[in-house]
Amino acid sequence: MSADVRDEYDLVVIGTGPGGEGATMQAAKQGQRVAVIERQGQLGGACTHVGTIPSKSLRYMIFRMTDTNANPVFRAAGASLHLTFPELRQAARTVIQRQVDMRKGFYERNHVPVIPGQARFVDEQTVEVLSASGLSRRIRAKAFIIAVGSRPYRPPQVDFSHPRIFDSDTILDLNFTPQSITIYGAGVVGCEYTTMFRNLNCKVNLVNTRSKLLEFLDDEIIDALAYHMRDRGVLIRHNEVLDKIEASDNGVVCSLQSGKQLKTDILLWANGRTGNTHDLGLENVGLAPNSRGQLDVNQDFQTAKPHIYAVGDVIGFPSLASAAYVQGRCAAGHRFQGDVDRTMIDSIPTGIYTSPEISSIGKTERELTAARVPYEIGHAQYKNLARAQITGQTVGMLKLLFHRETLAILGVHCFGATAAEIVHIGQAIMAQSGEANSLKYFINSTFNYPTMAEAYRVAALNGYNRVF
Ligand SMILES: Cc1cc2nc3c(=O)[nH]c(=O)nc-3n(C[C@H](O)[C@H](O)[C@H](O)COP(=O)(O)OP(=O)(O)OC[C@H]3O[C@@H](n4cnc5c(N)ncnc54)[C@H](O)[C@@H]3O)c2cc1C
Repeated sequence: MSADVRDEYDLVVIGTGPGGEGATMQAAKQGQRVAVIERQGQLGGACTHVGTIPSKSLRYMIFRMTDTNANPVFRAAGASLHLTFPELRQAARTVIQRQVDMRKGFYERNHVPVIPGQARFVDEQTVEVLSASGLSRRIRAKAFIIAVGSRPYRPPQVDFSHPRIFDSDTILDLNFTPQSITIYGAGVVGCEYTTMFRNLNCKVNLVNTRSKLLEFLDDEIIDALAYHMRDRGVLIRHNEVLDKIEASDNGVVCSLQSGKQLKTDILLWANGRTGNTHDLGLENVGLAPNSRGQLDVNQDFQTAKPHIYAVGDVIGFPSLASAAYVQGRCAAGHRFQGDVDRTMIDSIPTGIYTSPEISSIGKTERELTAARVPYEIGHAQYKNLARAQITGQTVGMLKLLFHRETLAILGVHCFGATAAEIVHIGQAIMAQSGEANSLKYFINSTFNYPTMAEAYRVAALNGYNRVF
């Protein structure tokens, strides 16, 4: 525990993932008496222990290995790395511990007590905290922020106790490198693991219950991702519905209602998540989650009870660590300062760590067309960038959507190496008001050479040449 625990607070936050941390730090910085409750032995939430951090560490290790093996110079010199899934997974442990230690420091420096245990509402001003040792204590607060996150959705007909069937939490404990995998669910997590396993040379079936991958993205990016996955040998099945999954000692058979059967070494279930609301005592405060365990909130993250806020995965889309953190800050800001600057919540970029990665912000072509906005497009192909040629990361593109009259940037969509980094250059210009948000910024700025950021100049010139 990082500070003395009292019985009454201005704010009690439930959960220490990014949502809870953002809320707690914002309230603490404003001099409020705030405490946070966490049921896991360690701080950081699913984000640090089973979500963002371990998956991105694993992805990085796979990338380093495949990149080394694919490099002709290293290959000629005899380099050939063949690490197993568990060996590659090791790297995440150090990162997780560093993250936990760093976060612990945040709470300590801000004198915020971290109360260990499972929180449960008793009434509208009180939560009961049940510790792992069975002790319980009641804490009262004037306001609460629920940041309890989510867990993988587990349909009853799938036997998750079978050693060949995994979800996104348990896949991290996989103790061998499979030769083949079926991934059921083609959302962000499903697509990210698809490219990771394919880079490990596994045969991958990706089963999508929808007609396209990641429908919220710009169509051209979706097409590029699907093309690239197929080009790498991934078998994508769209518009499928599960019939049954049968696992045995020598594999898993995934039968689809269309009559198709897919047999692989293991199956990763990546179809949806459920909010962690079932044991929160919400019935005692008159709140009811939806069928996915999520809570409805208004634009200020208040539930139907104005002093009880909810942020992060427990409120659903976009279910990103980045979004959870700013939502937490905004909820605490709203509670203690009144109004909040909505810019950071209204304009959340998407970062998808497939390989190559994807990132976007702003409108898609589909949205602009539907809204009849006169826009133009500028493209930069990675294969034409010197930096991409040097690093060998030539698959990808940057695409700028801009207003053909005002030249204001309306959307930035990137598919390829460092997409999640370079999107923020476009974000910074898009966030400017009036004439400062202009395609001309990219045309008239000098970029370091060679850089991936230079794609902005190439795309801007490409688009500007279309304007007449
Ligand atoms: C495989 C995977 C990869 C991901 N990759 C990315 C990525 O690259 N980028 C990105 O932005 N997002 C990513 N995400 C999503 C990201 O992890 C989540 O959006 C983020 O963790 C949500 O934060 P949160 O604070 O809402 O909840 P969480 O991080 O889940 O934290 C909730 C905390 O609340 C605690 N808790 C729950 N109930 C109680 C209770 N009753 N009492 C006390 N404590 C409780 C839990 O123990 C947990 O510590 C990924 C997710 C997965 C699964």
